[in-house]
Amino acid sequence: MRTRFAPSPTGYLHVGGARTALYCYLYAKNKGGKFILRVEDTDEERSTEDSMRMQLADLKWLGYHYDEGVDADTLKDFGAYGPYRQSQRKNIYKEYADKLLKSGQAYYCFLTDEEIEVQRQASMKAGRPPQVNSPYRDWTLAQGEKKIAEGGKAVVRFRVPDLNREYKFTDLVRGEVAFPSDMVGDFVLLRTGGMPVYNFCCVIDDALMKMTHVLRAEEHLSNTLRQLMIYEGLDMKPPEFGHLSIILGSDRQKLSKRHGATSVNEYKERGYLPEALSNFIALLGWSSPKAQEILSMSEMIEQFSLDRLHSAAAIFDEVKLKWVNAQHLRAMPHAELWQRLTPFFKQAGLVLSDDPNWQDRSLSVYKTSMEVLTDAIELYRPLSLNGFTIYDEAKEAFAMPTTPNVVREWRDQLAALSDEFVSEAQFLAAQDAVKAKAQVKGKELFFPIRVAVVGKPHGAELKILIPLLARKLLIERAETVLKHLKA
Ligand code: GLU
Repeated sequence: MRTRFAPSPTGYLHVGGARTALYCYLYAKNKGGKFILRVEDTDEERSTEDSMRMQLADLKWLGYHYDEGVDADTLKDFGAYGPYRQSQRKNIYKEYADKLLKSGQAYYCFLTDEEIEVQRQASMKAGRPPQVNSPYRDWTLAQGEKKIAEGGKAVVRFRVPDLNREYKFTDLVRGEVAFPSDMVGDFVLLRTGGMPVYNFCCVIDDALMKMTHVLRAEEHLSNTLRQLMIYEGLDMKPPEFGHLSIILGSDRQKLSKRHGATSVNEYKERGYLPEALSNFIALLGWSSPKAQEILSMSEMIEQFSLDRLHSAAAIFDEVKLKWVNAQHLRAMPHAELWQRLTPFFKQAGLVLSDDPNWQDRSLSVYKTSMEVLTDAIELYRPLSLNGFTIYDEAKEAFAMPTTPNVVREWRDQLAALSDEFVSEAQFLAAQDAVKAKAQVKGKELFFPIRVAVVGKPHGAELKILIPLLARKLLIERAETVLKHLKA
């Protein structure tokens, strides 16, 4: 049992592509089969190595480990059926095109683009499907070769059998599908420069790489007819096909840039967890037999089956994605969660304690306020050990004549304690003592203390924050405010 994901490296890995990859991966793992990655880079103008590198990195981040393909780091092939980049298989495609030419199932066609356009216009006027009618269809191979030897420029065109019959197959998602053979005209296999087209490479590679199951986007359903014809022409056995449901935005339009993030990379940067993104996209077109909404990768592998794939369009609901992410995030062991947060803290310039006990304690307090990893940045900013900012909003507190005295009393209360951290109870007691000594209440009490802790009179609740700030640091912050008041 072998499945493959075959991305074209012409941009980022889209969430739709990630879902295709995930289903192929889950199916292979569920069946004890192999999952293969093949790079479809025959579109020379649009394919780039950068895009390939990014897409492979995204697959790695998602954790869809393939058994054969192109390594995400070294970009080297591994596996017994390589090369795995179509641009490196041109001689193979040529060999099979020659076979079809020899057996008369393909021919050299010398129609120019202009001639094809004239035919297209005429078909449109007559209300016929725009099929190419090549006068070279009846040429012998020798005639074609002679014209090429004389400098003629030809494509290799597949000779669609004149049978008036239906091509049928059982789609793994959609059930019986039938195409009339006259739905397509003779189609190109190799372009003028010898570059093969998608439908041709795909068949050759799926056959030679011994694919048993092809799961792919719905938009490829109509390509399947051409592909079946090529399989038949080469006397090769086609794999089973499954065409996945389309993904729509919440406005029921095809998911696109207009809907916001559509690339896996953007979700990564926005603080989504790969396991949550996978869980969410798995449910776009598949459902758990146990009706589970939150699933780990191993649960998905265990529960996955093709008969639970739906053909109806799936709606990409960002609100649900966030919810799924929050569930995974909150269920994660703290040490692991901290590791995932670290790059985000670093990028935001925060310096936080490296004491695992402190990290654990802080996450118990904050993780319920986090849905995505990036939510942690503002929650942890007041706890950063580098730089304490006194914000403009502190002005109101600084204008109160009682403030210097309140901050001094606050500092003295802290200094009189001895533990490394101040507990919530100690804080409340200290606050009461300041109130009594400085003879203030309400704003005159709370504003200066807040400014001395977080640099502004509003924001996170102090009784939550203070136990996470070392007492020494709290004293330092109070001193900074006092200095500021004197200046
Ligand atoms: N390269 C094609 C795509 O990215 C793959 C189609 C297929 O899976 O056959 O859409």
